[in-house]
Amino acid sequence: MGLINESFCVLCNSELEIREHMFLTCPTVVIIWDSIFSLSGLHFVARSWETFEVWACSSWKGKSLLTMVMKIVLNALIYIIWDERNKRVFQGRSRSVEEIFKAIKDIIIFVLNPLVFCSRFCYLDNKS
Ligand SMILES: [Zn+2]
Repeated sequence: MGLINESFCVLCNSELEIREHMFLTCPTVVIIWDSIFSLSGLHFVARSWETFEVWACSSWKGKSLLTMVMKIVLNALIYIIWDERNKRVFQGRSRSVEEIFKAIKDIIIFVLNPLVFCSRFCYLDNKS
């Protein structure tokens, strides 16, 4: 723990830890993308990073709610997957796919409506 000897993905331990695998094609990440896309009524297709960038840039244009949410999703997913990777590598801790998915959803809720997030997760002292 703490020293990286292999560059295999710590989410699946079967592929090299490269950007495309970490954020698009890792079986764990595909499950999360599938869950997110199905919530949005879309279908996720695992593809190369470059193809994904071209597709996302052409699909997520304008100021629609779906476009805004998907841009937040992409950033939240990258952040949480990298955080999960670091937790596993440096702290020996791990979360389930469901917990990772929930962490991504929590970020989306927070960004879209901080008051909803606070009412669900912040401790408010009502005793004073
Ligand atoms: Zn993997």
